[in-house]
Amino acid sequence: MRFVMLACLVALATAPISAQTTSGPTPGEVPDTPGFWRQWEGEAKTAAAARAVNDRPVKLSTEQDLYDVHFYDLDLDLDHVNELITGTVTMRATVVGPLLRMVDLNMQSIALIVDAVRVAGQPAAYTHVANLLSVDLGSDHTMGQEIEVTVDYHGNPNGLGAFGWAWADTERLIWTLSEPFGARTWWPCKDLNHDKADSVDLHIAVDPNMIVASNGLLVGEEMVDGRRVFHWQERYPICTYLVSVAAYPYLVFTDTYTSESGATMPIVNYVVPSYEQEARDGYGVTAEMISAFADGFGEYPFIDEKYGHAAFTWGGGMEHQTCSSMIYWYFGEGLTAHELAHQWWGDMVTCKSFHHIWLNEGFATWSEAYWLEQSDGPQAYRDDLANNRYTGGGTIYVENPDNFGSIFDSNLSYNKASWVVHMLRGVVGDEDFFAGLALYRERFEYGAADTEDLQGAMEEVSGQDLGPFFQQWIYGEYYPRYRFAYLFVPDGENTTAHVRIDQIQTNTGLFTMPIPIRFITDQGDHWVTLENEREVQYYTLTVPGEGWAAQFDPDEWILRDAFAGTITDVPSTSSALSLTAYPNPFNPQTTLRMELGAAGPARLALHDAAGRLVRVLVDGDLPAGANEIAWNGRDGQGRTVAAGVYFAVAEAGGKRETARLALVK
Ligand SMILES: [Zn+2]
Repeated sequence: MRFVMLACLVALATAPISAQTTSGPTPGEVPDTPGFWRQWEGEAKTAAAARAVNDRPVKLSTEQDLYDVHFYDLDLDLDHVNELITGTVTMRATVVGPLLRMVDLNMQSIALIVDAVRVAGQPAAYTHVANLLSVDLGSDHTMGQEIEVTVDYHGNPNGLGAFGWAWADTERLIWTLSEPFGARTWWPCKDLNHDKADSVDLHIAVDPNMIVASNGLLVGEEMVDGRRVFHWQERYPICTYLVSVAAYPYLVFTDTYTSESGATMPIVNYVVPSYEQEARDGYGVTAEMISAFADGFGEYPFIDEKYGHAAFTWGGGMEHQTCSSMIYWYFGEGLTAHELAHQWWGDMVTCKSFHHIWLNEGFATWSEAYWLEQSDGPQAYRDDLANNRYTGGGTIYVENPDNFGSIFDSNLSYNKASWVVHMLRGVVGDEDFFAGLALYRERFEYGAADTEDLQGAMEEVSGQDLGPFFQQWIYGEYYPRYRFAYLFVPDGENTTAHVRIDQIQTNTGLFTMPIPIRFITDQGDHWVTLENEREVQYYTLTVPGEGWAAQFDPDEWILRDAFAGTITDVPSTSSALSLTAYPNPFNPQTTLRMELGAAGPARLALHDAAGRLVRVLVDGDLPAGANEIAWNGRDGQGRTVAAGVYFAVAEAGGKRETARLALVK
């Protein structure tokens, strides 16, 4: 989702609950400033979520892990005149634990009143306290058994943040927006991301002048007792927070997406009539956008159904599956791209828990830039990212998802996370990046994933160890600050380039990143990528022709600062030698890292504190660069050595380096 921060919206967020009979900003002037898109963010959503549950306990039950939902039927009458929902929700599930007697559903317990509960059609006992509906199945159920629970209820969840009776122009507009934990405030469900229902049916009754937009396909519409009933079917797996209803006397217009294979799919737009022309102009690009994303991410995930936009009154958009809810008076391309991209990243592959919301929001935000790259070229992509930088503190990984502000933190979950997607693309390269996305999709489509799942897919395709990358960017804070210096020494036809890169950040640890460098020479550009991981690191390179200048990461593949430095101490790299150990202190094993400026004879030996030789680990030729040698705390005879201090002595190229090791027991 994306939200625009407007003064009235912020005021709304702090308004008392009882005052909220409508939602969102009033129509107004759209800022005509570059980077306007950077204002879209999740604060409004946070306010909504906080209202939904903050003042009442969010009770999740471990019992919920004992069943797997496969179907919901929502049969709801939405009476906006009396502001009343009267509903019947049926859930079908399979028992997946050893024994299940009580079925626990999340259900807000003040706004929603349970009228009756049935199990397989028969009246059942239940309790409904502290936002948890516990239904007695009447007998123990065992693994593999099917259960069906039906709940009759009524209530008015308006003001809890996830459901509202609003106004747009002079008509009532009914909206929902349940992410992250709001579904339970308007219908009983197992409200956990990782348990998607295989399908959902919605029978929604409204006033005869209203039209209902929802998930999947509209399969029926009829008049029943003076009410207009719309029957929607979602036949792709769906999370509870993506189940949505929007109702209004909409004007409906349709466009068509044609896939590469020639399949066609409707794009259905439900708009407020007074904005018809703006909507036709703004949404006209949608089919082209679906094609662009299908090229990059694979076919649109809900191709047998539809995509659509349904106007609502919040100040932004929400990626409801197959039917994004959109602010009714604004039609910017970035917002359209963002919510559409979520259909792949968020809806088809959903973050397993809100710790990993960046997998939804980072990808959707990055996709705004990706769309610009497809439509306007690489510079538009880079400009969009540049307008989107965040270099402050905090981890992208959401430490505490009960803190809604941190789930929808626009700096971290949106902006910095979009840079992580961009940097990942830079680190593995385009071919592996898109192949990695395809593998990630193949493994987790219509299910849920976390950061490690994405890392695994990207590592498998690229063959790279991306552990440090995800560790520093998702679980770490801040960003690297580099000082870059170079010195050209003519060498016949070529130039010897001495490069020094320092990492000078003081608020976090060292980063391991490949850094693109462009050398500008009399023969054109010469690109190299330098692996960088140390506080001070030297490189000596041969550049063809006469070197004129060197540029540090000129296309901005890294979220960083870079400053110019000077080289005063060019080391003789052919004889350079370094030795480090990690972990240290250690038990039972440590890894010694011996880095040589040039290949050649080398020796690595261990001595105890008294200088006695304990073991020779290396005695022979080693290649240039980093060599990692493990020591398992055993001597030359294979005996475990005593705890204490040891010295590793490395020798190569006429140099000698010593590292002090501590074996602790
Ligand atoms: Zn989003």
